[in-house]
Amino acid sequence: MTNDGFHGQNGVFAYAPAPESRSVVDIAPSYGLFIDGEFREAADGKVFKTLAPASEEVLSEVAQAGAADVDAAVAAARKAFTGWSALPGAERAKYLFRIARVIQERSRELAVLETLDNGKPIKESRDADLPLVAAHFFYYAGWADKLDHAGFGPAPRPVGVAGQVIPWNFPLLMLAWKIAPALACGNTVVLKPAETTPLSALFFADICRQAGLPRGVVNILTGDGATGAELVGHDGIDKVAFTGSTAVGKEIARTVAGTGKRLTLELGGKGANIVFDDAPIDQAVEGIVGGIFFNQGQVCCAGSRLLVQESIHDELLDALKRRLTTLRVGDPLDKNTDVGAINSAEQLARITELAEAGEAEGAERWSAPCELPSNGYWFAPTLFLGVSQAHRVAREEIFGPVLSVLTFRTPDEAVAKANNTPYGLSAGVWTEKGSRILAMAGRLRAGVVWANTFNKFDPTSPFGGYRESGFGREGGRHGLEAYLEH
Ligand code: NAD
Ligand code: MN
Repeated sequence: MTNDGFHGQNGVFAYAPAPESRSVVDIAPSYGLFIDGEFREAADGKVFKTLAPASEEVLSEVAQAGAADVDAAVAAARKAFTGWSALPGAERAKYLFRIARVIQERSRELAVLETLDNGKPIKESRDADLPLVAAHFFYYAGWADKLDHAGFGPAPRPVGVAGQVIPWNFPLLMLAWKIAPALACGNTVVLKPAETTPLSALFFADICRQAGLPRGVVNILTGDGATGAELVGHDGIDKVAFTGSTAVGKEIARTVAGTGKRLTLELGGKGANIVFDDAPIDQAVEGIVGGIFFNQGQVCCAGSRLLVQESIHDELLDALKRRLTTLRVGDPLDKNTDVGAINSAEQLARITELAEAGEAEGAERWSAPCELPSNGYWFAPTLFLGVSQAHRVAREEIFGPVLSVLTFRTPDEAVAKANNTPYGLSAGVWTEKGSRILAMAGRLRAGVVWANTFNKFDPTSPFGGYRESGFGREGGRHGLEAYLEH
């Protein structure tokens, strides 16, 4: 059905457009690298463009850091480490609290920026990403003067210079997860944002200046995988923290092996969202939708495998399909949009390829009826029904708005299927019985198990994986450990 302004795309009353204003953010035509407190061009003058994936409009041109720039940034971080690590924790905390407050003050601007560069709905960048970013800085600011009592010995020391590489799905939030604990513990950092979403990290560099952070404590190098590889392979860093694909994580583990550098990896996932026959169906449907369509499914801990108890399969799937037909797909800057753009042409191609494999292998494909914009990168919310454990759509991380539906009869079968994955990042359990939640949580091999909810985050809660989902924990008291010698 077409969107005639009255019936809307789904035959129900339409929403009037409610666009967030772009004028709250001022994007410069070009940006340099942030090294030693100043923006500068790459030594060899190389640049690349970053796009708005919803429109394919070029937003800005940013510097592509090479080996000489990595050298300069690491040297700046090393120089700054002496003074920063010697500051009393309470003094470091002041800077972190200041950064957190500036983020809150500039949150509308940063949310619009993130939505433009990433393609995620403004509703999410405004209500999830940005509040969590500020919360992480507030939370770790609170730890900075309490490290002696954090359970890592009487006087734990910082590790040194951290090289941090982050992905494009939650650009500013992943930056916060990396930088806040590192700085609280007295480390200095060189961070490389993903090549498709470099802008919010560059705005963060400006926030560091605004907060009066000593130069060299935070350095931001934009660039692609080659820049990331230069950084993690650099002799001058003491610790590597990476979030991204399992393939690149393995490569980094090989690079770092035997060098004495500390390493934490947050990699992919194929989370099981398990719905028992006593679950409240409407709530479960909301949790399933939030679990896989939040951020277009480009979430490492997404609930991308739905395991539904056989006796409620038809009822649950009917309700889920009805709900999916009401999702609003389109302009990420519209405040009513539920599902935005896929981050890049490359990511869209990966999702498309895996979805085609699902069909070829015999799973039944169902997509929500929706009109997709003609420019930009889009993928309709999609279900695969009748999926078996051998199908690629059940085994491989799709990292898109695609849910694979499997069934089970007994709790044992649910556990066996949920754990039948090389990953181990997240899982969800929907049931009315508290005892069943606890019994399931103890048997699921996943770093986080949500009960009657999904994709809930809080800076006090540690997050991380087992097996091919990586190792180390970010968030909470546990998140300090990666940045302390003890
Ligand atoms: P990626 O792992 O290639 O990129 C993540 C980050 O690592 C980026 O900043 C990138 O520039 C950098 N990088 C790439 N190669 C590197 C190297 N050799 N050494 C150091 N840094 C390097 O991820 P991608 O290509 O953007 O996405 C591919 C797949 O990865 C996705 O389809 C998805 O399955 C998965 N992914 C997972 C997460 C997550 O949060 N766990 C995030 C993004 C992507
Ligand atoms: Mn972009």
